[in-house]
Amino acid sequence: MALTINDPVLQKVQGYRCRNAQADNSCAIYETRPQTCRNFHCGWRRLKWVRETLRPDISGVLVRMQYEAPDANGARALGVIFTLLNANSWKVEGLAETVAAAVAAGVPAYVHVPGPPGYTSSQARINDALHGAVLTRNKPAILEVLRRARSMAKQGDHEPIVLGPPEVNG
Ligand code: SF4
Repeated sequence: MALTINDPVLQKVQGYRCRNAQADNSCAIYETRPQTCRNFHCGWRRLKWVRETLRPDISGVLVRMQYEAPDANGARALGVIFTLLNANSWKVEGLAETVAAAVAAGVPAYVHVPGPPGYTSSQARINDALHGAVLTRNKPAILEVLRRARSMAKQGDHEPIVLGPPEVNG
């Protein structure tokens, strides 16, 4: 629901439920689901260093992986995005520790906050802001960065989403 999908066979904007989602949140077309859905990897399931407490439907935090833009040599680092789905998500158990683990390992880390349904979201890279707090293992300072990042993203400009031609996944 929190993500926009712009696939040749499925377009939806964030904030709206996919038409294929069933009451129990399973997918009605799982065997033939769009490539975009096949390419999506839940960080909570896939990354061992993501705390167990961050299961998305319980924590209100959606952890996902996304490749960075290529560097000068064409290499693409794998970053991690923490989507905060509700007002208290920034302080859920295990988030500060998980974010700190990403920053300590040099993994590009972002806080992402959805806009109102149908509107663009905001996202901010948090590695630099967290550097000192992670080095000194200062959990209150880490939480304060997360709180501020969410607050600033929430107040950011949100424009109506206009989907262009579907992106063809290679
Ligand atoms: S996996 Fe299925 S229910 Fe989920 S977004 Fe894709 S098509 Fe919709």
